[in-house]
Amino acid sequence: MTRTALVTGGSRGIGAAISIALKGAGYKVAANYAGNDEAAQKFKAETGIPVYKWSVAEYDACADGIKKVEADLGPIDVLVNNAGITRDAPFHKMTPQQWKEVIDTNLSGVFNMTHPLWNGMRERKFGRVITISSINGQKGQFAQANYSASKAGDLGFTKALAQEGARAGITVNAVCPGYIATDMVMAVPEKVRESIIAQIPVGRLGEADEIARCVVFLASDGAGFITGSTISANGGQFFV
Ligand code: NDP
Repeated sequence: MTRTALVTGGSRGIGAAISIALKGAGYKVAANYAGNDEAAQKFKAETGIPVYKWSVAEYDACADGIKKVEADLGPIDVLVNNAGITRDAPFHKMTPQQWKEVIDTNLSGVFNMTHPLWNGMRERKFGRVITISSINGQKGQFAQANYSASKAGDLGFTKALAQEGARAGITVNAVCPGYIATDMVMAVPEKVRESIIAQIPVGRLGEADEIARCVVFLASDGAGFITGSTISANGGQFFV
């Protein structure tokens, strides 16, 4: 049986690696994105993976987008909540807008995507919900009160929903990447990046594909006894 997977923010960075890895593992894959049409079209041309544009921060847009994907590819068995943003600022300078944008995308976005899919997964007695949280949701990070709160919220969501999905054959798990070489991390000044790398015991940034492999594992039938869990993939930078 060919399963269908939907990856939010699936056309760039970690999400693109996840989309490609799931396709390689035999899934029918759809990649959602927010607004970077150029990157999305390039990704589609290179991979053959269809792309769908909507914001995970808007509930109705998610419900409509999911309907479109399911009409094209069939019921979604695997949801990867990967879309995420940063709006960093020390707390005394953080604006309500910076707080709201990050919570709306990184935390409410996970609700907005999972909720419209939940009943279908329950009826079919199978589902995988995998959310990309962050090391900074586990340990907190200077100038990321908004981001750390959103990513810690994703972990609470995961643990709670795992309990609700368990008897319905739905597993709900999270992956907490450390620092991965994507646009998000390459956008920080080089000096800051060097100081980040100095804190990683393995001595390098992670690769997006190293996160994608965790997701492929959690999506697999063989991971059916793992739920409410977090895989930390951070080069030894932080132990829970
Ligand atoms: P990128 O900035 O490289 O890519 C982000 C992706 O999310 C893009 O595809 C973007 O779409 C999409 N996106 C952003 N906002 C929305 C939205 N409102 N609706 C739909 N899609 C959206 O990020 P990364 O690949 O670095 O990060 C992916 C995930 O991993 C994030 O959740 C991030 O927090 C998490 N993470 C990343 C780490 C890292 O070191 N890179 C470390 C720990 C966690 P578009 O292309 O249209 O802009």
